[in-house]
Amino acid sequence: MKDMRALSKIWMDGRLVNWDDAKIHVLTHGLHYGYAVFEGIRCFDTPKGPAVFRLPEHVERFLNSAKIYRMDLGYSQKELEKACADVVAQNGIRECYIRLIAFSSYGEMGLNPLKSKISVAIACWEWGAYLGKDSADKGVKATISSWVRIDSRSMPIQAKSAANYANSALAKMEAVAGGYDEAIMLNSSGMLAEGPGENIFKVKDSILSTPPASSGILRGITRDTIIQFANDAGIRFFRNDATREELYTSDELFFAGTAAGIARIREVDGRQIGNGKYPITAKLQKMYDDAIHGRSKRYEKWLSYVSR
Ligand code: PMP
Repeated sequence: MKDMRALSKIWMDGRLVNWDDAKIHVLTHGLHYGYAVFEGIRCFDTPKGPAVFRLPEHVERFLNSAKIYRMDLGYSQKELEKACADVVAQNGIRECYIRLIAFSSYGEMGLNPLKSKISVAIACWEWGAYLGKDSADKGVKATISSWVRIDSRSMPIQAKSAANYANSALAKMEAVAGGYDEAIMLNSSGMLAEGPGENIFKVKDSILSTPPASSGILRGITRDTIIQFANDAGIRFFRNDATREELYTSDELFFAGTAAGIARIREVDGRQIGNGKYPITAKLQKMYDDAIHGRSKRYEKWLSYVSR
């Protein structure tokens, strides 16, 4: 498998199976109709061993995604948290990305997913910065997508459903085909929404801002983390809508997400952002790096240590 090194175990429907045995049938219902919800979490190395960052919040969002889709997972918050920690421990790694997925499984076809059994799986693998190793300091080139971000009147955007990511994939492919690293998606009112798999923040005149939930975004846990950092560090912050041209003329711009971390956007549609200096972003990146790696007492509350 390209880019993904096989580890030892994957949790499937309540038990740990060998990596190569974690398979499903080609007639799996969720594969055909996108009836699946998932979650992405990261585990980082700390002086006290591997620790999962904001594990309860991620599992809670997973359960809420399932609830929105009338999916009964059959596992409690605590059971899923323990299963995530077990997967990391069993694979004996210190840093990884953890993926939970729940989907309608094999046995029934047709559009009513409630006839199918729901399967739940948890896997982890080593995954570097999603937008590349230089994305944190050198930054990435982004473009405004011609694909409008899905609207919550059609698809519940607060549910991390696999189906939502068809919209993301269209935007990502278009960006890459145009020679960019990542897309920026606007909502159906033409205002800033988010990246295909990240939230977006901008800085103008030393004020940090990000679109409100009502702009049609996934309420990211990294986004929430950054908002708390801004409050704690005395950085002026607002949730507000932004127009396309406000992006072009911002002083600093960055993506934020579990997979991407905090990734600077150095260019949008060929316009350089600001003067290339990112002082507020750099401060937030430092706070984030310290928090995830257990170097900050204040944010240790966000770490769930994995006992080996
Ligand atoms: N928006 C979308 C569409 C995403 O897929 C993600 C990644 N889960 C985010 C934002 C960022 O969310 P988080 O910080 O919780 O990973």
